[in-house]
Amino acid sequence: MDTTWIQHLNSADINEPILIAPQTWWVGSNLPNDPFQCHSYLIEHGEDSILLDPGGQLTWEATLKKIEKIIPFSKIRYFVCHHQDPDITSSLPSIDRLVSRSDAVVLSHWRANALLKHYAIRIPLECVEKNAWQLNLGQRVLQFIFTPYLHFPGAFCTFDTRSGILFSSDLFGGFTENWQLVARDESHFENIRPFHEHYMPHKDVLMHGLSKLEPLPITLIAPQHGSLIPHHLITFMFTQLKAMDCGLFLMTRSNSDFRRLSRLNRMLKDVIQSMVLHRDFKEVARSILAATEPLIPSTHIEFYAQIDEELIVHLAPETGFRGTTAHLSSEYRAFMGLPREHWHGNKIGPYMVVDLPEVQPIGDPVRGLLLPLFSHQTNLVNALVLFRLNQEIEIDDELAMILNRISEPLGVAIEREMIYQNMEKERDSIYQRSIRDPLTNLYTRVYMRDTADRLCRVHDRDVRANLVVAMMDIDHFKSVNDTYGHNCGDHVLQQVSKVLLEGIRSADIPVRMGGEEFITFLIGVNNETAKEIMERIRTRISQLRFADPMADRTITISIGLASRRIGESLEEAIKRADIALYRAKNTGRNQVVQADDNP
Ligand code: GH3
Ligand code: MG
Ligand code: MG
Repeated sequence: MDTTWIQHLNSADINEPILIAPQTWWVGSNLPNDPFQCHSYLIEHGEDSILLDPGGQLTWEATLKKIEKIIPFSKIRYFVCHHQDPDITSSLPSIDRLVSRSDAVVLSHWRANALLKHYAIRIPLECVEKNAWQLNLGQRVLQFIFTPYLHFPGAFCTFDTRSGILFSSDLFGGFTENWQLVARDESHFENIRPFHEHYMPHKDVLMHGLSKLEPLPITLIAPQHGSLIPHHLITFMFTQLKAMDCGLFLMTRSNSDFRRLSRLNRMLKDVIQSMVLHRDFKEVARSILAATEPLIPSTHIEFYAQIDEELIVHLAPETGFRGTTAHLSSEYRAFMGLPREHWHGNKIGPYMVVDLPEVQPIGDPVRGLLLPLFSHQTNLVNALVLFRLNQEIEIDDELAMILNRISEPLGVAIEREMIYQNMEKERDSIYQRSIRDPLTNLYTRVYMRDTADRLCRVHDRDVRANLVVAMMDIDHFKSVNDTYGHNCGDHVLQQVSKVLLEGIRSADIPVRMGGEEFITFLIGVNNETAKEIMERIRTRISQLRFADPMADRTITISIGLASRRIGESLEEAIKRADIALYRAKNTGRNQVVQADDNP
């Protein structure tokens, strides 16, 4: 039903009054090339008929003609002015001359009446807030809903309880190039968006106004600008408006293209959004690129963040934005550390279009847009963003302003990424410290726990991945400490570990179990080879020579070997190696003893 009704209204002759509900008429006039399209509405109610938002001098003549096709002008008693703009009220002097009845009134908020009195008209000005914000006509009650500052301090809307029409004034208004009386689909919100983003002063104010209107049983929204919102689109438009920011006042001297301003604003929002939504910098960069693409046509974005005088972190798509340390090329280095004022006092604005010599131009020369990012603390440039442009762009005041604004969230994004990367490094170094014994640089028990189980699993699947456990213990080490002191003891531990590390392969895992006990996992070697390796290590240790006071002290070690049986627990294999070590100690020390590996 909605669809046929919409089609019917949209094909109606706009030079005639158009019936939009019983006794309710659109009596606006279509001004060519005017995206505002100011509407007036007439509610036919016998001797108490109502004209809402009468209009301005440009439209009054046409509106009057339409009214008189429906009712004699003299039937109109109430002239409702939702705010005081000339497109609503500048017809009042003409109306004043026409009105002959003494009970006619102009209904508006006191804040508008204070201004409307300057028309010096005879018709009395009445305040809608009198009589509990309503006009009771018996069969028909008009409720006046105060929507302050949307967009005028004393702005209000009118709800007709009989027809369910909300005469919403500027709210739900839109800019339309190809005006249609009734909005067809959700895409009409894109006409509403720029009007509100620019016109409505603040999101909280908008939310306040909308929250008063939303509970009403509205069947149709009749705004003063744009198109009527049919029933099936009402919820959608409320939802969209509630999700929208406003009060941006992006308009500058040179540009009043609201749609472009709206697109610019969207870009800014999307850039901020991309930081909030994504944790991974690759995702952040990808969505920044997508957000900026409509206005900064580029398929490539990269970041340079300063570490010190010489070095930067370079985050680029080639490295998956992981960040690689590099030297900054001299032409970009000049920008690092420049104060914010430099970019603003400077004609070049908060951006720079640069040539990219390192890029081989295909066809037209490729240019880059370089944006400085500032440190929060110092306000100096500490990072740069480079967009590689697909085509030349014209940077007007608005785009320059938006570039300036997106530099903020981008600066935060890069600072955050640097913090994350440092945390990552810190975590890595903590892990390295936890798995490496600082005195000997051998692995710790922590690491052994993690890896040994894995080695066992590999061994169980593949017998060639033979796993030999070597338990080692320095002989009479206590006497080293007792005779030469703890420092000499430490030095011996280091020298022994060094020989151990040099004697095994990089895949093998040497662990300091604590004190002067070591365990080494030899991987993929048979028992004979394992014994040879450990014998060699034992011999080399016995050949170690130390400086005074240990010049004539020889250090030896005892070693117990066990070859892990398939399916054997690690603890069991270690225990057998330990028993072999015990035998080595008890049968003279300075020797390698093999456990009985048969099950
Ligand atoms: P055995 O031949 O039977 O192994 O005799 P041992 O003296 O080496 O045996 P014991 O386990 O009794 O002595 C180990 C000594 O190692 C005791 C302890 O003071 C010393 N020690 C443990 N950790 C360290 C260390 O980090 N540095 C130094 N300098 N000494 C340590
Ligand atoms: Mg010991
Ligand atoms: Mg010992």
